[in-house]
Amino acid sequence: MVKCGRSNCAEGAVINVTQPLCKSHFISGFESKVAATIGKYGLVSEKDRIIVACSGGKDSTTVLYLLNKWFGNVTALAIDEGIPGYRNATLEDLRSFCSRNKIPLKTSSYKQAFGFSLDEALRRVAVLPCNICGTLRRHLLNRGARGFTRIATGHNLDDEAQSVLMNIMKSNIGLAARLGPVSGVAADVKFVPRVKPLYFCLEKEVAAYAFLMGFGIRFNECPHSHISFRASVRDFLNGLEQEMPGSKQNIVKNFVRLLPKLKEAYAAETGISHCTVCGEQASGEVCKACSYVDSLKKQAAIDWQHTAKF
Ligand code: SF4
Ligand SMILES: [Zn+2]
Ligand SMILES: [Zn+2]
Repeated sequence: MVKCGRSNCAEGAVINVTQPLCKSHFISGFESKVAATIGKYGLVSEKDRIIVACSGGKDSTTVLYLLNKWFGNVTALAIDEGIPGYRNATLEDLRSFCSRNKIPLKTSSYKQAFGFSLDEALRRVAVLPCNICGTLRRHLLNRGARGFTRIATGHNLDDEAQSVLMNIMKSNIGLAARLGPVSGVAADVKFVPRVKPLYFCLEKEVAAYAFLMGFGIRFNECPHSHISFRASVRDFLNGLEQEMPGSKQNIVKNFVRLLPKLKEAYAAETGISHCTVCGEQASGEVCKACSYVDSLKKQAAIDWQHTAKF
């Protein structure tokens, strides 16, 4: 049995990221890292009304648990995209978690808000699932977060390293400038700061924490997650990490050092206006969510005419 690497600890190690650690030292180390991120970047304060974007998965459940433990005043916000066999199961876990921990839960769904579920939309438009899903999800999160002062998400270090590389590869440096422990466009009047308490935690650390804490959640993946650019970047980074341990941490650590300069350089390029249809943030006249909804409605009308003819 490998022993815990902390001095004077005789317990067996349960995880080895930078050193072997026993359960209690890993948990206290993980929580200290999250608390230090919150403190250093001023992510949340006692006065905040916090809403946590929850999926019922390990990352957002960890954020929900810790913010509720430390700040108390939290609400969970869940979006049901309509992915049978996946989201219904994770939302069931989230409902039980919230009820056990007495945390209020707000829910919303694509079907209610837009008139179609994600799977129904994907049968109508030829688009990568995560492209439309991410757009509609952000839209509903923004709407659901009104009245709160912080929206906390479960983004971890792996997610951020992927986003940094994706934006560089797509030459979207202006979008990269909106990343960081606090993200979004601060100049917008409707802006509710998005904060990422797990910013410096590796995905495997979050998974270990959620497992060891016994949150009672499933560790399943969205069936669409493998068909995205992000999935290719994730696999690439995981392969690189095997060869050069610490690569992901170095990407994020050095990106954070560059971020103030990036924000300064791209401050004038936010290009944010408000959608003429729904009033939410948009980079043009109509936001991406309303454009998707419009093309889906047009496609539905064509399908209906086609069915009516035969
Ligand atoms: S993996 Fe893609 S399709 Fe699945 S929930 Fe996430 S954004 Fe939506
Ligand atoms: Zn120990
Ligand atoms: Zn809109």
